Amino acid sequence: MAVSPPQPGQFAPSGRARRAVLRVRRGWAAGIAAAALLVGAAPIASAHPDPGGDFPKVPVMTGYGGAVSSVDPDATRVGLEVLRRGGNAVDAAVATAAALGVTEPYSAGIGGGGYFVYYDAKSRTVRTIDGRETAPFRMTATSFIDPATGLPLPFDQGVNSGLSVGVPGTPATWEAALRRWGTLSLRQALDPAAALAARGFVVDETFQAQTAANQSRFDDIVPTRDLFLPGGQPPAVGSTFRNPDLARTYRDMGRYGVDWLYRGALGREVVQTVKAPPVAPDADRVFRPGLMETRDLAKYSVVDRNPTRADYRGVTVYGMAPSSSGGITVGEALNILETVDLGGMDAVTATHYYLEASRLAFADRNRYIGDPAFVDVPQRPLLNQGFAKERACLIDPAKASVSPVPPGDPSPPYQGCPAATGAGDAEPYEGQSTTHLVAADRWGNVVAYNLTIEQTGGSAITVPGRGFLLNNELTDFSFAPANPSVPDPNLPAPGKRPRSSMAPTIVLEDGKPLLAVGSPGGATIITTVLQTLVGRLDLGMTLPEALAAPRLSQRNGAATEAEPSVPAALRAALEARGHVLRENPEIGAATALEFLPRGRIQAVAEPTRRGGGSAAVVRPG
Ligand code: GLU
Repeated sequence: MAVSPPQPGQFAPSGRARRAVLRVRRGWAAGIAAAALLVGAAPIASAHPDPGGDFPKVPVMTGYGGAVSSVDPDATRVGLEVLRRGGNAVDAAVATAAALGVTEPYSAGIGGGGYFVYYDAKSRTVRTIDGRETAPFRMTATSFIDPATGLPLPFDQGVNSGLSVGVPGTPATWEAALRRWGTLSLRQALDPAAALAARGFVVDETFQAQTAANQSRFDDIVPTRDLFLPGGQPPAVGSTFRNPDLARTYRDMGRYGVDWLYRGALGREVVQTVKAPPVAPDADRVFRPGLMETRDLAKYSVVDRNPTRADYRGVTVYGMAPSSSGGITVGEALNILETVDLGGMDAVTATHYYLEASRLAFADRNRYIGDPAFVDVPQRPLLNQGFAKERACLIDPAKASVSPVPPGDPSPPYQGCPAATGAGDAEPYEGQSTTHLVAADRWGNVVAYNLTIEQTGGSAITVPGRGFLLNNELTDFSFAPANPSVPDPNLPAPGKRPRSSMAPTIVLEDGKPLLAVGSPGGATIITTVLQTLVGRLDLGMTLPEALAAPRLSQRNGAATEAEPSVPAALRAALEARGHVLRENPEIGAATALEFLPRGRIQAVAEPTRRGGGSAAVVRPG
C-alpha cells in the first residue's frame, strides 16, 4: 500500500481519531462473534492458500483467524503456520522469534535477551516477562573503565569484547512463555526454525548489507568469519544461507531443554567463549575477555513484571516496566500530551508538542530509570498525571526547549508549574539493531515481543559449532556517569540488568485489545512507538499510515533526528521554532497489528524501512 507522508495541515481533527476508536469499540464484540463463527465454519488449514515457498511479503494484510507481523517473511510464515495448525499467539510468537534467530541472526537469537508482553484473552489481563540479560557477578561499576587510562573504554572496545556479553535471557523467555500460556513444547516451537536453518534462506539486500557493515569485526573471530563470511566475503544477494550448526543447536535445545544452556554443556561452551573469545591470529582488534562464569548462567531467571499503564484519551496503553525504560517513557510522554488537544492542532504545533513531550520524558528516564532490583525507580510517580501536568507546563508552544533539559521531581504533591533545575542528561547512544514482532490468535490473545542481541551483530562472537552470536547487551550500561553531577541509575553492578529502551506495547479499549506495536532502534524505539501511537490515536491516521509516516526522534539531545522524508515545509517550520534537526536515514522498523470492526485483524509492517517487513493474517479478507 502506498502511503504518502502527511503534509502540514493534512492531519484531521481529534474528533475523527476519536470516532475511529469508537467505531472499533462498537464493532468489537459483534466482530469477534462473527470471526468465531467463521473459524468454526471452515477449517483454517483449508481456508488459506499454502503459504509455502511463494509466501507473499506484504506490509499490510487484513483478515481473520489470527495475525503475525515481523521484519522477515520466512519468520512470519513460520508464525502463521503455527496459528493455522491451531497454536495460539504465544506459540506463534516463540516460533517466529526462533525463526528470526535464523534469518535475522544479527538482531535476534538465543545469545540475547528481550521483553515479552502478552494480553491473555481469558483473564483479560496484560502480563509481561522481563528476559533481559544480566551482568555477571564479577562485574562492578568500574568494569568498563580502562585500568590503563582511568577513562571509560572507547565504545567499540566495549562492544567487541567478552566483557559486553550478558547472561542470555531469550531461551528462558521462550520456555517461560510457552509453559505459562502456550500449547506447544519448546521442541515443537523450535522445530520450524531448525528446519529453516537447515534448509537455508535466500539472502536479501538487508542481510547482505548488515553483514558487509560488520565485515571487519566478524573477520576477527574465527567461528563468526567461518559462518557469516563464507569465502571471506558477505554472502551474495540471492544466494542461499544455511546454518546447520544452529539447526542442531535448536534441535538439541528442544531435546534437552533450556537447562542445557543454564546448567549444562552449552552453558560451559558459552562461558569458555566469553572468557577466551576465539580471536583469529590476524585479528585487527583486541577482544577483552569477559567475566561470565557458569554460576551466572545457573542463577539466571526471567522476571514476571506488572506492565506499565497509561490511560490515554479513552484507551489504556500497557508497556514494559523497568528494567526497560520503554513503558514508563512512552507512558509519561503520552500523559504530557494528554494535557493538550493534539488532534485539534496544525501539524507543526502537534509535532512540536510530540518532540517536547519526548524531550521531557527522556530527561526523567535518564535520571530515574534503571534495574529496579538495584535502583529505587519512582514508577508510579513518573506515570502520575499530576506529574505530567507539571512537566507539560514547561512546554512553550512557540519555542523548543534547549537540551539537555533537567529532570523533574516526580514526587507528590503536584501543583503549579515548578521550573526544573539542575543538570540533565541526553541519551548518549542509539543503535539500530533488535527486532520486534506481534502475534494475535483467533481467541483474541495478543503478543508484542522485542528481542535483541543489542548492536547489529552483537559482540561479533559466535559460539564455536553452535551457529549463534553472543550479545553485547552490557554496553547498554553507562560506562561512567554521563554527567558526574547527575546520579546515574544505570551503572554496571553484579547481577544487574542494563537499562533498555525496548517498548513492546499493547493498547486496550474497554479491556479488549485495540492494537499492539513495537520497534527496534535503541532509544529511538521509544519515540517510534510514541509517534506511531500519536499518529493512530490523535492524528487520524490508519495504523499503516502511522507506521509509514516520516519519523522524528527527540531524546533530550541538542538535535532532533529526522528522516529524509520529513516534508521540507514541516522541517522549516520546526526550525523556526528553534528545533535543530539532524538527518537520520532510517529510524526504527516497526511491526504492529490492530483489531478492526467486525472481528477483522490488520497486521502491519514497514513498507520500506529495513527493506520492508512482512505482515500476514490466517485468512485474508
Ligand atoms: N539494546 C537496546 C535496548 O535494549 C536495543 C538495541 C537496539 O535496538 O539498538 O534498548
